Amino acid sequence: MSATSARRILAAATLLALLTLSACAARPVFHARQITAAPPSPSVPMPMPSTSPSPSAAPTTTAPPAPGSLDWYVSQAPTFPEAPPPQPVPLTATGAIPFWHRLPTDQKVAFITIDDGGLARPPAVADFIWRAHIPVTMFLNSPAAEEHDDYFRQIQVAGGIVENHTIRHTSLAGRSYDYQRQEICGAADKLETLFGKRATLFRPPFGEYDSTTLTAARDCGAKAVLHWSETVHEGKVRYQTPEKVVQPGDVLLMHFRPALMDDLLAALKAIHRAGLTPALLEDYIR
Ligand SMILES: [Zn+2]
Repeated sequence: MSATSARRILAAATLLALLTLSACAARPVFHARQITAAPPSPSVPMPMPSTSPSPSAAPTTTAPPAPGSLDWYVSQAPTFPEAPPPQPVPLTATGAIPFWHRLPTDQKVAFITIDDGGLARPPAVADFIWRAHIPVTMFLNSPAAEEHDDYFRQIQVAGGIVENHTIRHTSLAGRSYDYQRQEICGAADKLETLFGKRATLFRPPFGEYDSTTLTAARDCGAKAVLHWSETVHEGKVRYQTPEKVVQPGDVLLMHFRPALMDDLLAALKAIHRAGLTPALLEDYIR
């Protein structure tokens, strides 16, 4: 057998395994907040600890959870009104793909996004996302995703979606089409291999882009390029808009950093204060 055919057989076996995994890892539906069923797949290592038979049940007896514990974060997460059935935003079938700071929707939803992946990966994040039903989109750099694929796969099993944030996290603005395409398609190919789904959203590093970025992102499979409306860092929401309140369609940006648990909680509280419900970007950009 030639080395090439051996590699092809190995690749096919790997793909089959991935397809099996991704088929099992169907994400929960987030507008049904009363999810109490078992986690999505018994065959995948689950983020939910065995000490909590009912993910939505608040502690009812004895001492309150210790501040900073996973139970405490879950207990602090606001209760939201049920998200409306998503009405996807209109996309044109041809031509340039859109670049959005805020999704053009007046539905009472906002979107949580988490970027990068190489710097820090707090261990309780997948459990928090699962137990508090937090819809998240992860814009990952493909080398970090590859090095820590088990971590991100746990968040994927908890309902998170992996999207594209290039390979090397360099600014794309002003670079050639070939350079940008390699950064975007190269990451998309790797992420698809790792997580079993082609990225449909792209976020350029530092939010820096040009018209070539939109073309290259489209050519690599993206339907839209995302910026953000608020950033969240060390538990504080920083508004980029004069309203100083989360608006319908807003996109909140945070990172895989040490304070990610606090950032998630701060984002949930800001969305709740605004009378909105967190929703999944991919339900609105199809
Ligand atoms: Zn980044």
